[in-house]
Amino acid sequence: MSTPAPSVPNAKRLEGKVGIITGGARGIGEAAVRLFLSHGAKVVIADILDNLGEALCHELGEDVSYIHCDVTNEDDVCKTVDFTVEKYGKLDIMYNNAGIVDSLMPEILNTEKAKFERVLGVNLVGALLGAKHAARVMIPAGKGCILFTASVASEIGGFSSYAYSCSKTAIVGLMKSATAELGRFGIRVNCVSPYGVATHIADGLLPVEAVHFEGLLSKVGNLQGVVLKAEDIAQAAVYLASDDAKYVSGQNLLVDGGYTIVNPSLAMGFSSFLG
Ligand code: NAD
Repeated sequence: MSTPAPSVPNAKRLEGKVGIITGGARGIGEAAVRLFLSHGAKVVIADILDNLGEALCHELGEDVSYIHCDVTNEDDVCKTVDFTVEKYGKLDIMYNNAGIVDSLMPEILNTEKAKFERVLGVNLVGALLGAKHAARVMIPAGKGCILFTASVASEIGGFSSYAYSCSKTAIVGLMKSATAELGRFGIRVNCVSPYGVATHIADGLLPVEAVHFEGLLSKVGNLQGVVLKAEDIAQAAVYLASDDAKYVSGQNLLVDGGYTIVNPSLAMGFSSFLG
């Protein structure tokens, strides 16, 4: 049997597809909106930052739409999916990316119940509602792709707050459950899990500006000589959403330069001990 030719580099990998990106008004979501569009997709940005979302939509043209959608509100999520199907005729990709963080430090004594529930509400319940309403239209279509932005905090402890770690770890559980249930309907489900990216997510929580945060992240990261950008996460999402990944389901794709599988603390301890 002959081997099919590999896909052409830089080809439009999402040509003809329609996607929703929650949290698409800025950061990783915005990078995904731009990259999905450049790969030929029609995109609906679902966010609560109306000014930013509408400005982005205006800049990018008629293949991008904006809808106000608080992912914690089921009515909003339901309407976002219905709006997309009415406007573009179908939904191929549901990228549940919206997220917040309450603190960068895992401090159980400072963990406030209300903040914990708020983070779980946006990051986890919001992702569940996105997957649920996407499945509502994807099941009858017999195909579809559901993506989540999780985090390296889904794999290791100590990366962020309790709320954030719990929400991102649970997203992987959500992804696995959906993979198991929806595979028979032709629906693929995956996560992209970034290492730290300098976006606005930690505004107000950091004592340093984003540019310094990026430098710090790079310095303590495993892979040296490159800096992780929002576009790199968007590239992983495009791959998972494309037909190049047609048999890939149930994966938590870590875009972390190996950070979660190494622990250099012992070697560092030895080298400081040995001088
Ligand atoms: P960001 O703050 O720049 O973007 C998050 C977007 O989500 C914003 O546009 C925001 O308005 C939107 N959002 C927040 N609450 C919402 C709600 N209730 N309904 C709808 N939209 C809402 O942050 P980002 O870094 O681009 O984060 C995107 C995703 O990536 C999040 O899920 C985050 O947890 C995840 N992530 C980020 C990093 C990082 O270091 N930046 C690392 C790992 C994972």
